[in-house]
Amino acid sequence: MNGADKDPWLLTPGPLTTSAEVKQAMAHDLGSRDDQFIAVNRRVRDRLVAIAGGEGTHVCVPLQGSGTFVVEAMLGNFVPPDGKVLILVNGAYGKRMAKICDYYARRYKTLETPEDTPNDPAALDEALGADAAISHVAAIHCETTSGILNPIAEIAEIVARHGRRLLIDAMSAFGAIPLDARAVPFDAAVASANKCLQGVPGMGFCIAKRNALEATKGNSPSLSLDLHDQWTAMEGNGQWRFTPPTHCILAFDKALDEFDAEGGVAGRGARYGENRRILVAGMRELGFKTLLPDALQAPIIVTFHMPGDPKFDFGVFYRRLREKGYVIYPGKLTVAPSFRIGCIGHLGEAEMKGALAAISEVIREMGVRTGKPDAA
Ligand SMILES: *Cc1c(COP(=O)(O)O)cnc(C)c1O
Repeated sequence: MNGADKDPWLLTPGPLTTSAEVKQAMAHDLGSRDDQFIAVNRRVRDRLVAIAGGEGTHVCVPLQGSGTFVVEAMLGNFVPPDGKVLILVNGAYGKRMAKICDYYARRYKTLETPEDTPNDPAALDEALGADAAISHVAAIHCETTSGILNPIAEIAEIVARHGRRLLIDAMSAFGAIPLDARAVPFDAAVASANKCLQGVPGMGFCIAKRNALEATKGNSPSLSLDLHDQWTAMEGNGQWRFTPPTHCILAFDKALDEFDAEGGVAGRGARYGENRRILVAGMRELGFKTLLPDALQAPIIVTFHMPGDPKFDFGVFYRRLREKGYVIYPGKLTVAPSFRIGCIGHLGEAEMKGALAAISEVIREMGVRTGKPDAA
């Protein structure tokens, strides 16, 4: 299915498994000023705006680098030097936003809930009521640390009611979980090519409300990450300011063809939801326990508690699964020892069932009786 027999299946939150066609689309060398490249770049940007429901109101500014580069760019551009951002934290990516604000000397406050608890809308409402200096709220749609879904529509409604502005890290949700600018008001939302849109790593993008982006001129403390400058330059001549990730964009355009063919956000979200269902049911049969209750679990990545059986060794588990062709992901939680298995990428029922069979074999080989966290 991934077109390269020896590559493992990546059950990770990115990079993730891409289709053979997406990889083949990269087999071209186009110059940065090439008309064909400029046309593909324009098309990719327009398609991304449409996925966000932002036609006529929002624009897409692509940016070289991993996802964090564009999160950093969003904060540096949209939160002005005299602004203040309230960051909703329930995992590592929220904490990373706070760290970015430290680097940029932007004023911020955090509103924290535990890693297994969604952002708290009532606390947000209260915090905004109590502090008139807060100009922006930054939230994470799906916190990939645990795989938890945050109540972004409710957050957006509260932020708008208080007349503040919303910045969204939609990195691991965009393309699989609906985010529609017509229903969920935001100034900026960022994501990357290599998560639910199933392109290859190398670039992120910001979907920005046009008039909000226009007002960010001069805010960015970084030249490379200046979204306003990137946008005005690209609107001017269709080109990127600095060497564009040409291969990544060619692959992205192909990945968006596949996204459309699958039925857009609804189709993709349905396949990931089915991947999650198969994974969670199979793991529970083996005794494993999910961190989150099903109602809070996004169909992106699932966190499992480490088994309590003393024969279980995560290093060995990981390596043997890799030998069988499946890559999983260590946990990033502070609350409990855990590991994660992704549902996203060019994977379906056969791969999820294959991964479950491999997991069952590996724990048997290790002499582990059950995946139960409390089985000593
Ligand atoms: C993947 C991800 C990022 C970006 O991570 P990079 O490793 O820099 O690509 C940011 N936020 C969330 C929620 C993510 O899942």
